[in-house]
This record gives sequence, structure tokens and C-alpha cells, in this order.
Amino acid sequence: MAFCDFKLHKPESVTEACRLGREFGRTCAYMSGGTELLVDLRSGRKKVAHVIALGGLKELREIRRDGDTLHIGAQATLSEIAEAPLVHEVFPALAEAIVTMAGVQIRNLATMGGNFSCGVPCSDTPPITCAAGGSIVVAGPDGEREVAARDFVLAPRTTVLNPGDIVTAIRIPVQPTTSGASFQRFTMRRGSALAVASVSAWLNVEQGVITAARVVMGAVGPIPLFAENCAASVVGQAPGDSVFADAGALAAAEAQPISDLRGSEQYRRDVVAVLARRALACAAARAEGRTS
Ligand SMILES: Cc1cc2nc3c(=O)[nH]c(=O)nc-3n(C[C@H](O)[C@H](O)[C@H](O)COP(=O)(O)OP(=O)(O)OC[C@H]3O[C@@H](n4cnc5c(N)ncnc54)[C@H](O)[C@@H]3O)c2cc1C
Repeated sequence: MAFCDFKLHKPESVTEACRLGREFGRTCAYMSGGTELLVDLRSGRKKVAHVIALGGLKELREIRRDGDTLHIGAQATLSEIAEAPLVHEVFPALAEAIVTMAGVQIRNLATMGGNFSCGVPCSDTPPITCAAGGSIVVAGPDGEREVAARDFVLAPRTTVLNPGDIVTAIRIPVQPTTSGASFQRFTMRRGSALAVASVSAWLNVEQGVITAARVVMGAVGPIPLFAENCAASVVGQAPGDSVFADAGALAAAEAQPISDLRGSEQYRRDVVAVLARRALACAAARAEGRTS
């Protein structure tokens, strides 16, 4: 059976997409940009009899502000998100993360909905969304629900999605003016390459003191990992090189990397220490208005 021996469905509404997904269950897959799915089908990692293309659902492409939330439709492409003035205004670290991903051809097709739904440990948008305190809107045969981004991925390639569930949007709260965030990522080469490790940091700084922090690591654990000890160590401190270097060492200890062709376990821990220090320093500078 050729990898493309599947029946293609083009639902015209979210309700129809969910109904088809429930009807075909594990024998189908949803497709957004197809940049992950088609690779999986071609390599034989996945086999399905039905592909349900979500690209026709134009209402899922919108990027807008909903009161105190940035709403990113699950079908908006990575390029559209990275170029959207609203994203730069509300949470520029997301655009910063996206432009490090893949190459422009992939970003012109790939979506954030797909990046979350595949549940791959080195996916780049989940950690920065978790650092922002974001959430994922899921539509299913029984209605809509909102899941905190940190609860969305359960294990490698396993998410909270059930048959018939589709991601419809990613929601990011409008950030306080006293906060700043940064995404730092290391790859084996420039250009299109998957992360060896990434660290996303979010800080709130008031009157020279860090009052809240979130640090989330990517590609060094089965799911996006919160470096809780690292984040706790900077709260109550003034931003400074030694504070961030010590915090970086804590993040390295909290990482759960594997050894693979992109790096050994120890190498990845060493990379995390550096990335966490840089991400915290950059987030602090942004929170204090020292840099954009
Ligand atoms: C050359 C290359 C480079 C890459 N580089 C990177 C990189 O640097 N960083 C990175 O994170 N990723 C990278 N990727 C992986 C991939 O491009 C991203 O994960 C992308 O965001 C997937 O989005 P998509 O819309 O193409 O998803 P698709 O391929 O359409 O789908 C991915 C998975 O999610 C499911 N799905 C898709 N949309 C939905 C939805 N709305 N609701 C429910 N389920 C859904 C599909 O069934 C499938 O299982 C790369 C891929 C390639 C081929």
C-alpha cells in the first residue's frame, strides 16, 4: 500500500471535521500544513485510511485580540504568525521562536495547531506558549474546552486530544508591561535543523526585583519541561549575571535529556545551562525596558 493510499476529506466546518474524526477514529489523521504528517505517512511511522484536511476552515486562520487575550487560529501558518503586528505587540517572543524554526517554505505551510498536536518533544512553539501562560482551545464532538498549554502534551507524540478533537486556537494572555520573555534555542547548524535544546523564560520585574518567573525547556524531556527550581531561584532577586548563571545550573539539573544523534545527555545539560542563563538575562532586560 502506497503512503498516499488514503481517502482525502475536506470538511467545510469544525463540526463536520469533528464528526468525521469521531467516525473514523484511529484510522484517520487530521492534516493542517502536512509538514509533519506527510513525513510520518511517507516514512511508515503512521498509516491511515482517511486524511481530514483542515485547511479549508478559514475561520481557524484568524489572529486577533479578544479583550486581554491574543487569539491565534490553529490554521494560521507560522509565517503569518511571525509577521503579524499583533503578535509583535502582545508577545514578541513567540515570533522570535517561530523564525528560528525550519525554513521559510516549511513556515509558509506549517501551523501552530499542528506543532502542538503532533506532541513531538522538540516542537518549538509549546515551550514558549507554556512560558507565556497560554492555553489551547479544543473543539470535539461534545463541544469546546480550553486546556492549559502546560497540560496539553502528555508524553512523546501523545496529547490530550481524543478521536474527533481538533485544536482550533492558541490563546496567549496579554502580558503585563513589567514582564519580558525570551526564547533561546541551540541547533547543530544554521538553517533548517531541529533543536538540540531550547529554553523559554518569562519574568516579571518590579522596582528592580524579580517577582515571578517561568522557565520551560524544550527537546530535553518527553514533554515541555518546567524548570521549577530554576524559576524559583530567581524570584525575590535582582536581575544579575551570577543569579542567572546559578539558575542555569539548576535548569541543567532539572532537564531530562536523552542521548541521540543531536547530542549526548551531558552535552544537552551543558547547553541548557547556557541557554537558560541567556534566556533569563534577555527576559529581564526586556522586562526592565533596557532592550526590545
Ligand atoms: C524540514 C523540516 C523542518 C522542521 N523544523 C522544525 C523546527 O525547527 N521546529 C519544530 O518545532 N518543528 C519543525 N518541523 C516539524 C513541523 O514542521 C512542525 O511541527 C509544524 O508546526 C507542524 O504543523 P503542520 O501544520 O504542518 O502539522 P501537520 O503535519 O498537518 O500535522 C501534524 C500532526 O498534528 C495533527 N494535527 C494537525 N493539525 C491539527 C489540529 N488543528 N487539530 C488536531 N490535530 C492536528 C496531525 O494529524 C498530525 O498528527 C520541521 C519539519 C520539516 C519537514
